[in-house]
Amino acid sequence: MNVLVINCGSSSLKYQLIDSDTEAVLAKGLCERIGIDGRLVYQKAGLDKEITEAPMPTHKEAIQMVLDALTNEKTGAIRSLKEVDAVGHRVVHGGEKFAASTIITDEVIKAVEECNDLAPLHNPANLIGIRVCQELMPGVPQVAVFDTAFHQTMPPKAFLYGLPIKFYHDYKVRRYGFHGTSHSFVSKRAVEFLGLDKDNSKVIVCHLGNGSSISAVVNGKCIDTTMGLTPLEGTVMGTRSGNIDPAIMEYVAKKENLDIPGVMNVLNKKSGLFGLSGGVSSDMRDLEAAAADGNMNAQNALDVLIYSVTKFVGGFVAAMNGVDAIVFTAGIGENDGKVRAGVVKNLGYLGITLDEEANKQRGEEIVISTPDSKVKVAVIPTNEELAICRDTVALVKAAN
Ligand code: ADP
Repeated sequence: MNVLVINCGSSSLKYQLIDSDTEAVLAKGLCERIGIDGRLVYQKAGLDKEITEAPMPTHKEAIQMVLDALTNEKTGAIRSLKEVDAVGHRVVHGGEKFAASTIITDEVIKAVEECNDLAPLHNPANLIGIRVCQELMPGVPQVAVFDTAFHQTMPPKAFLYGLPIKFYHDYKVRRYGFHGTSHSFVSKRAVEFLGLDKDNSKVIVCHLGNGSSISAVVNGKCIDTTMGLTPLEGTVMGTRSGNIDPAIMEYVAKKENLDIPGVMNVLNKKSGLFGLSGGVSSDMRDLEAAAADGNMNAQNALDVLIYSVTKFVGGFVAAMNGVDAIVFTAGIGENDGKVRAGVVKNLGYLGITLDEEANKQRGEEIVISTPDSKVKVAVIPTNEELAICRDTVALVKAAN
Protein backbone atom coordinates (compact mmCIF):
# COMPACT_ATOMS: atom_id res chain seq x y z
CA MET A 1 0.00 0.00 0.00
CA ASN A 2 1.07 3.59 -0.63
CA VAL A 3 0.33 5.75 2.39
CA LEU A 4 0.47 9.53 2.36
CA VAL A 5 1.42 10.77 5.83
CA ILE A 6 0.36 14.34 6.57
CA ASN A 7 1.43 16.46 9.53
CA CYS A 8 -0.50 19.69 9.18
CA GLY A 9 0.50 22.77 11.21
CA SER A 10 -1.10 26.21 11.23
CA SER A 11 1.11 27.65 8.48
CA SER A 12 3.08 24.62 7.36
CA LEU A 13 2.64 20.96 6.56
CA LYS A 14 5.03 18.04 6.30
CA TYR A 15 4.33 15.01 4.15
CA GLN A 16 5.80 11.64 3.21
CA LEU A 17 4.58 9.07 0.73
CA ILE A 18 5.55 5.64 2.05
CA ASP A 19 5.31 2.23 0.38
CA SER A 20 4.11 0.21 3.35
CA ASP A 21 5.29 -3.12 1.90
CA THR A 22 8.94 -2.09 1.80
CA GLU A 23 8.55 0.84 4.26
CA ALA A 24 10.54 2.91 1.76
CA VAL A 25 9.89 6.65 1.57
CA LEU A 26 8.93 7.30 -2.07
CA ALA A 27 8.84 11.09 -1.71
CA LYS A 28 8.76 13.64 1.09
CA GLY A 29 8.81 17.34 1.77
CA LEU A 30 6.95 20.24 3.25
CA CYS A 31 4.87 23.31 2.50
CA GLU A 32 5.82 26.44 4.36
CA ARG A 33 4.35 29.92 4.77
CA ILE A 34 0.80 28.80 3.96
CA GLY A 35 -1.46 31.87 4.08
CA ILE A 36 1.56 34.19 3.80
CA ASP A 37 3.09 33.47 0.39
CA GLY A 38 3.96 29.80 -0.05
CA ARG A 39 6.92 27.49 -0.59
CA LEU A 40 6.85 23.82 -1.55
CA VAL A 41 9.78 21.52 -0.87
CA TYR A 42 9.51 18.21 -2.72
CA GLN A 43 12.01 15.38 -2.86
CA LYS A 44 11.55 12.14 -4.69
CA ALA A 45 13.68 9.31 -3.30
CA GLY A 46 17.11 9.36 -4.89
CA LEU A 47 16.69 12.82 -6.43
CA ASP A 48 17.61 16.33 -5.26
CA LYS A 49 15.17 18.56 -3.41
CA GLU A 50 12.98 20.78 -5.60
CA ILE A 51 11.88 24.10 -4.17
CA THR A 52 8.91 25.93 -5.68
CA GLU A 53 7.72 29.34 -4.53
CA ALA A 54 4.00 29.59 -5.30
CA PRO A 55 0.98 31.20 -3.66
CA MET A 56 -0.71 29.03 -1.02
CA PRO A 57 -3.51 31.16 0.36
CA THR A 58 -4.93 28.16 2.25
CA HIS A 59 -4.05 24.55 3.07
CA LYS A 60 -6.17 23.48 0.10
CA GLU A 61 -3.76 24.99 -2.44
CA ALA A 62 -0.82 23.63 -0.42
CA ILE A 63 -2.11 20.04 -0.41
CA GLN A 64 -3.12 20.32 -4.07
CA MET A 65 0.48 21.33 -4.86
CA VAL A 66 1.80 18.33 -2.93
CA LEU A 67 -0.52 16.01 -4.86
CA ASP A 68 0.49 17.62 -8.17
CA ALA A 69 4.18 17.17 -7.29
CA LEU A 70 3.62 13.52 -6.28
CA THR A 71 1.93 12.80 -9.63
CA ASN A 72 4.14 15.02 -11.81
CA GLU A 73 4.93 13.29 -15.10
CA LYS A 74 8.71 13.73 -14.80
CA THR A 75 9.55 13.78 -11.10
CA GLY A 76 6.43 12.32 -9.50
CA ALA A 77 6.67 9.23 -7.28
CA ILE A 78 3.34 7.87 -8.58
CA ARG A 79 1.41 8.15 -11.84
CA SER A 80 -1.95 9.17 -10.45
CA LEU A 81 -3.76 9.74 -7.17
CA LYS A 82 -5.36 6.31 -7.63
CA GLU A 83 -2.02 4.98 -6.33
CA VAL A 84 -2.56 6.63 -2.92
CA ASP A 85 -4.26 3.87 -0.93
CA ALA A 86 -4.67 5.69 2.38
CA VAL A 87 -3.80 8.91 4.19
CA GLY A 88 -2.49 8.98 7.76
CA HIS A 89 -2.84 12.25 9.66
CA ARG A 90 -0.95 13.29 12.75
CA VAL A 91 -3.46 14.79 15.17
CA VAL A 92 -2.00 16.48 18.23
CA HIS A 93 -4.75 16.19 20.83
CA GLY A 94 -7.19 13.35 21.22
CA GLY A 95 -8.11 14.25 24.80
CA GLU A 96 -9.55 11.29 26.71
CA LYS A 97 -11.60 10.24 23.70
CA PHE A 98 -8.83 8.49 21.77
CA ALA A 99 -6.55 5.87 23.28
CA ALA A 100 -5.56 4.56 19.84
CA SER A 101 -5.41 5.57 16.19
CA THR A 102 -8.70 5.47 14.34
CA ILE A 103 -10.24 5.55 10.86
CA ILE A 104 -11.66 9.02 10.30
CA THR A 105 -15.43 9.30 10.18
CA ASP A 106 -17.77 12.27 10.72
CA GLU A 107 -18.04 11.27 14.40
CA VAL A 108 -14.25 11.20 14.74
CA ILE A 109 -13.99 14.68 13.22
CA LYS A 110 -16.60 15.93 15.68
CA ALA A 111 -14.74 14.36 18.60
CA VAL A 112 -11.43 15.90 17.47
CA GLU A 113 -13.18 19.27 17.19
CA GLU A 114 -14.31 18.87 20.80
CA CYS A 115 -10.62 18.64 21.78
CA ASN A 116 -9.79 21.93 19.99
CA ASP A 117 -9.82 23.89 23.26
CA LEU A 118 -7.03 21.66 24.57
CA ALA A 119 -4.75 22.36 21.56
CA PRO A 120 -6.03 25.57 19.96
CA LEU A 121 -2.98 26.03 17.75
CA HIS A 122 -2.71 22.46 16.52
CA ASN A 123 -6.03 20.60 16.33
CA PRO A 124 -7.81 23.10 14.03
CA ALA A 125 -4.85 22.88 11.61
CA ASN A 126 -4.91 19.07 11.76
CA LEU A 127 -8.64 19.12 10.99
CA ILE A 128 -8.11 21.41 8.00
CA GLY A 129 -5.61 18.87 6.62
CA ILE A 130 -8.14 16.05 7.10
CA ARG A 131 -10.99 17.95 5.42
CA VAL A 132 -8.85 19.06 2.46
CA CYS A 133 -7.60 15.49 1.90
CA GLN A 134 -11.18 14.18 2.05
CA GLU A 135 -12.16 16.74 -0.56
CA LEU A 136 -9.19 16.19 -2.88
CA MET A 137 -9.06 12.40 -2.51
CA PRO A 138 -12.68 11.30 -2.08
CA GLY A 139 -13.06 7.66 -1.15
CA VAL A 140 -9.45 7.25 0.04
CA PRO A 141 -9.49 6.03 3.67
CA GLN A 142 -8.08 8.51 6.17
CA VAL A 143 -6.68 7.64 9.59
CA ALA A 144 -6.01 9.87 12.61
CA VAL A 145 -2.95 9.09 14.74
CA PHE A 146 -2.91 11.04 18.01
CA ASP A 147 0.11 12.43 19.87
CA THR A 148 -1.72 11.84 23.14
CA ALA A 149 -3.10 8.32 22.58
CA PHE A 150 -0.13 6.27 23.82
CA HIS A 151 -0.25 8.06 27.18
CA GLN A 152 -3.90 7.25 27.83
CA THR A 153 -2.82 4.19 29.86
CA MET A 154 -1.45 6.45 32.62
CA PRO A 155 -3.23 5.83 35.93
CA PRO A 156 -5.06 8.70 37.70
CA LYS A 157 -2.23 9.07 40.24
CA ALA A 158 0.06 10.01 37.32
CA PHE A 159 -2.34 12.13 35.28
CA LEU A 160 -4.13 14.12 37.99
CA TYR A 161 -2.75 17.49 39.08
CA GLY A 162 -3.02 18.69 42.67
CA LEU A 163 -5.85 21.06 41.72
CA PRO A 164 -9.55 21.20 42.62
CA ILE A 165 -10.96 17.99 41.12
CA LYS A 166 -13.71 20.10 39.52
CA PHE A 167 -11.13 21.34 37.01
CA TYR A 168 -10.64 17.77 35.85
CA HIS A 169 -14.34 16.88 35.78
CA ASP A 170 -15.56 20.15 34.25
CA TYR A 171 -12.66 21.20 32.05
CA LYS A 172 -10.64 18.00 31.56
CA VAL A 173 -7.56 19.56 33.16
CA ARG A 174 -5.13 16.64 33.53
CA ARG A 175 -1.79 15.44 32.23
CA TYR A 176 -2.19 14.07 28.68
CA GLY A 177 1.40 13.83 27.41
CA PHE A 178 2.60 14.31 23.84
CA HIS A 179 5.07 12.79 21.34
CA GLY A 180 3.09 9.59 21.98
CA THR A 181 3.71 8.23 18.48
CA SER A 182 7.44 8.53 19.09
CA HIS A 183 7.33 7.09 22.62
CA SER A 184 5.27 4.15 21.38
CA PHE A 185 7.51 3.48 18.35
CA VAL A 186 10.79 3.79 20.28
CA SER A 187 9.70 1.82 23.36
CA LYS A 188 8.43 -1.07 21.18
CA ARG A 189 11.61 -1.06 19.13
CA ALA A 190 13.70 -0.96 22.34
CA VAL A 191 12.09 -4.19 23.54
CA GLU A 192 12.91 -5.89 20.21
CA PHE A 193 16.35 -4.40 19.74
CA LEU A 194 17.53 -5.02 23.29
CA GLY A 195 15.93 -8.46 23.56
CA LEU A 196 13.76 -7.54 26.56
CA ASP A 197 10.74 -9.55 27.66
CA LYS A 198 7.83 -7.47 26.38
CA ASP A 199 5.58 -8.63 29.23
CA ASN A 200 8.17 -7.90 31.88
CA SER A 201 9.98 -4.76 30.85
CA LYS A 202 10.59 -1.28 32.26
CA VAL A 203 11.76 1.24 29.69
CA ILE A 204 12.40 4.98 29.92
CA VAL A 205 12.28 6.86 26.61
CA CYS A 206 14.00 10.25 26.48
CA HIS A 207 12.64 12.04 23.39
CA LEU A 208 14.94 15.07 23.39
CA GLY A 209 14.48 17.43 20.47
CA ASN A 210 13.39 20.99 20.11
CA GLY A 211 10.42 19.87 22.17
CA SER A 212 11.36 17.20 24.71
CA SER A 213 9.48 14.67 26.75
CA ILE A 214 10.34 11.57 28.74
CA SER A 215 8.09 8.61 29.37
CA ALA A 216 8.05 5.57 31.62
CA VAL A 217 6.80 2.43 29.87
CA VAL A 218 6.01 -0.79 31.74
CA ASN A 219 5.25 -3.91 29.66
CA GLY A 220 4.64 -1.70 26.63
CA LYS A 221 2.21 0.63 28.39
CA CYS A 222 2.92 4.22 29.34
CA ILE A 223 2.59 4.78 33.09
CA ASP A 224 3.89 8.35 33.25
CA THR A 225 5.26 11.11 31.08
CA THR A 226 6.67 14.59 31.55
CA MET A 227 4.46 16.70 29.27
CA GLY A 228 1.09 17.66 30.64
CA LEU A 229 -2.12 19.40 29.65
CA THR A 230 0.04 21.06 27.01
CA PRO A 231 3.57 20.42 25.69
CA LEU A 232 4.93 23.14 28.00
CA GLU A 233 5.41 20.90 31.05
CA GLY A 234 8.42 18.75 31.83
CA THR A 235 12.09 19.18 31.00
CA VAL A 236 13.72 22.38 29.80
CA MET A 237 13.31 22.51 26.00
CA GLY A 238 14.56 24.57 23.05
CA THR A 239 12.42 27.62 23.78
CA ARG A 240 9.94 26.22 26.34
CA SER A 241 10.54 26.57 30.05
CA GLY A 242 9.34 23.13 31.15
CA ASN A 243 8.44 22.95 34.85
CA ILE A 244 8.54 26.17 36.83
CA ASP A 245 6.95 27.40 40.03
CA PRO A 246 3.53 28.53 38.73
CA ALA A 247 3.71 31.60 41.01
CA ILE A 248 6.52 32.92 38.78
CA MET A 249 3.84 33.77 36.23
CA GLU A 250 2.14 36.36 38.42
CA TYR A 251 5.44 37.70 39.74
CA VAL A 252 6.92 38.24 36.27
CA ALA A 253 3.63 39.54 34.84
CA LYS A 254 3.68 42.34 37.42
CA LYS A 255 7.36 43.13 36.94
CA GLU A 256 7.20 43.13 33.12
CA ASN A 257 3.64 44.44 32.84
CA LEU A 258 2.50 41.39 30.87
CA ASP A 259 -0.97 39.89 30.45
CA ILE A 260 -1.56 36.11 30.37
CA PRO A 261 -0.88 35.71 26.61
CA GLY A 262 2.29 37.77 27.13
CA VAL A 263 3.53 35.46 29.90
CA MET A 264 2.60 32.37 27.88
CA ASN A 265 4.55 33.72 24.94
CA VAL A 266 7.64 34.07 27.15
CA LEU A 267 7.23 30.54 28.55
CA ASN A 268 6.68 28.97 25.11
CA LYS A 269 8.96 30.95 22.86
CA LYS A 270 11.57 32.85 24.86
CA SER A 271 12.53 30.45 27.63
CA GLY A 272 14.26 27.06 27.79
CA LEU A 273 17.74 26.79 26.30
CA PHE A 274 17.18 29.96 24.29
CA GLY A 275 16.16 32.01 27.31
CA LEU A 276 18.75 30.54 29.67
CA SER A 277 21.54 31.22 27.19
CA GLY A 278 20.54 34.89 27.04
CA GLY A 279 19.25 34.47 23.48
CA VAL A 280 22.33 32.70 22.06
CA SER A 281 20.27 29.89 20.49
CA SER A 282 17.77 27.12 21.11
CA ASP A 283 20.00 24.73 19.14
CA MET A 284 22.41 22.48 21.02
CA ARG A 285 25.10 22.80 18.36
CA ASP A 286 25.22 26.59 18.77
CA LEU A 287 25.12 26.32 22.55
CA GLU A 288 27.95 23.80 22.67
CA ALA A 289 30.05 26.02 20.41
CA ALA A 290 29.28 29.09 22.55
CA ALA A 291 30.02 27.19 25.77
CA ALA A 292 33.35 26.03 24.32
CA ASP A 293 34.12 29.71 23.67
CA GLY A 294 33.55 30.41 27.36
CA ASN A 295 29.95 31.68 27.29
CA MET A 296 28.74 30.90 30.83
CA ASN A 297 25.05 31.38 30.02
CA ALA A 298 25.31 28.78 27.26
CA GLN A 299 27.15 26.41 29.63
CA ASN A 300 24.46 26.90 32.29
CA ALA A 301 21.76 26.14 29.71
CA LEU A 302 23.48 22.83 28.86
CA ASP A 303 23.94 21.98 32.53
CA VAL A 304 20.30 22.75 33.33
CA LEU A 305 19.11 20.53 30.46
CA ILE A 306 21.20 17.54 31.56
CA TYR A 307 20.25 18.01 35.22
CA SER A 308 16.56 18.36 34.37
CA VAL A 309 16.53 15.20 32.22
CA THR A 310 18.45 13.29 34.91
CA LYS A 311 15.93 14.23 37.60
CA PHE A 312 12.98 13.02 35.51
CA VAL A 313 14.74 9.79 34.59
CA GLY A 314 15.58 9.18 38.26
CA GLY A 315 11.98 9.95 39.20
CA PHE A 316 10.67 7.44 36.68
CA VAL A 317 13.07 4.75 37.93
CA ALA A 318 11.44 5.28 41.33
CA ALA A 319 7.92 5.35 39.81
CA MET A 320 8.56 1.99 38.08
CA ASN A 321 10.57 0.57 41.00
CA GLY A 322 13.39 -0.26 38.60
CA VAL A 323 14.42 0.09 34.99
CA ASP A 324 15.69 -2.31 32.32
CA ALA A 325 16.55 0.18 29.59
CA ILE A 326 16.97 3.90 29.03
CA VAL A 327 16.62 4.97 25.41
CA PHE A 328 17.52 8.26 23.77
CA THR A 329 15.81 9.55 20.65
CA ALA A 330 14.97 12.70 18.56
CA GLY A 331 17.36 15.46 17.46
CA ILE A 332 19.35 15.81 20.69
CA GLY A 333 18.90 12.24 21.92
CA GLU A 334 20.09 10.75 18.63
CA ASN A 335 22.96 13.14 17.96
CA ASP A 336 24.32 14.59 21.17
CA GLY A 337 26.67 12.18 22.93
CA LYS A 338 27.55 14.81 25.55
CA VAL A 339 23.96 15.04 26.76
CA ARG A 340 23.59 11.25 26.82
CA ALA A 341 26.86 10.88 28.73
CA GLY A 342 25.89 13.64 31.17
CA VAL A 343 22.59 11.98 32.01
CA VAL A 344 23.98 8.43 32.19
CA LYS A 345 26.94 9.40 34.37
CA ASN A 346 24.57 10.92 36.92
CA LEU A 347 22.78 7.58 37.08
CA GLY A 348 25.89 5.57 37.98
CA TYR A 349 24.25 4.52 41.26
CA LEU A 350 21.96 2.27 39.20
CA GLY A 351 25.00 0.27 38.08
CA ILE A 352 24.90 1.80 34.61
CA THR A 353 28.17 2.08 32.75
CA LEU A 354 28.55 3.90 29.46
CA ASP A 355 30.48 2.55 26.48
CA GLU A 356 32.29 5.79 25.59
CA GLU A 357 33.23 4.56 22.10
CA ALA A 358 29.71 3.49 21.17
CA ASN A 359 28.37 6.77 22.55
CA LYS A 360 30.39 8.66 19.93
CA GLN A 361 28.06 7.33 17.20
CA ARG A 362 25.33 9.59 15.89
CA GLY A 363 21.86 8.99 14.53
CA GLU A 364 21.95 5.19 14.44
CA GLU A 365 20.42 2.37 16.42
CA ILE A 366 23.08 1.37 18.92
CA VAL A 367 23.61 0.11 22.46
CA ILE A 368 25.75 2.64 24.34
CA SER A 369 26.08 0.81 27.67
CA THR A 370 28.83 -1.71 28.35
CA PRO A 371 27.92 -5.43 28.36
CA ASP A 372 28.18 -5.56 32.19
CA SER A 373 25.97 -2.50 32.74
CA LYS A 374 22.99 -3.34 35.01
CA VAL A 375 20.71 -1.20 32.85
CA LYS A 376 20.85 -1.15 29.06
CA VAL A 377 21.21 2.24 27.44
CA ALA A 378 20.55 2.70 23.73
CA VAL A 379 20.01 5.22 20.98
CA ILE A 380 17.00 4.42 18.80
CA PRO A 381 16.15 6.91 16.04
CA THR A 382 12.48 7.80 16.10
CA ASN A 383 10.33 7.66 12.98
CA GLU A 384 6.91 9.15 13.62
CA GLU A 385 5.93 9.06 9.93
CA LEU A 386 6.62 5.34 9.70
CA ALA A 387 4.65 4.77 12.90
CA ILE A 388 1.70 6.71 11.41
CA CYS A 389 2.01 4.69 8.20
CA ARG A 390 1.99 1.37 10.11
CA ASP A 391 -1.09 2.33 12.16
CA THR A 392 -2.86 3.52 9.01
CA VAL A 393 -2.19 0.26 7.16
CA ALA A 394 -3.25 -1.88 10.12
CA LEU A 395 -6.56 -0.03 10.47
CA VAL A 396 -7.34 0.08 6.76
CA LYS A 397 -6.55 -3.63 6.33
CA ALA A 398 -8.67 -4.52 9.36
CA ALA A 399 -11.59 -2.52 7.94
CA ASN A 400 -11.52 -4.33 4.57
P1 ADP B 1 11.56 18.81 16.82
O1 ADP B 1 11.14 18.78 18.25
O2 ADP B 1 11.39 20.15 16.18
O3 ADP B 1 11.08 17.64 15.98
P2 ADP B 1 14.17 17.55 16.54
O4 ADP B 1 13.86 16.27 17.17
O5 ADP B 1 14.43 17.58 15.07
O6 ADP B 1 13.14 18.69 16.90
O7 ADP B 1 15.47 18.15 17.28
C1 ADP B 1 16.03 19.36 16.90
C2 ADP B 1 17.18 19.68 17.85
O8 ADP B 1 18.13 18.61 17.85
C3 ADP B 1 17.97 20.89 17.44
O9 ADP B 1 17.40 22.08 17.89
C4 ADP B 1 19.32 20.63 18.08
O10 ADP B 1 19.31 21.17 19.38
C5 ADP B 1 19.41 19.13 18.18
N1 ADP B 1 20.39 18.58 17.23
C6 ADP B 1 20.23 18.26 15.94
N2 ADP B 1 21.40 17.78 15.40
C7 ADP B 1 22.31 17.83 16.41
C8 ADP B 1 23.70 17.47 16.51
N3 ADP B 1 24.38 16.99 15.48
N4 ADP B 1 24.30 17.65 17.70
C9 ADP B 1 23.62 18.13 18.76
N5 ADP B 1 22.32 18.47 18.73
C10 ADP B 1 21.68 18.32 17.57
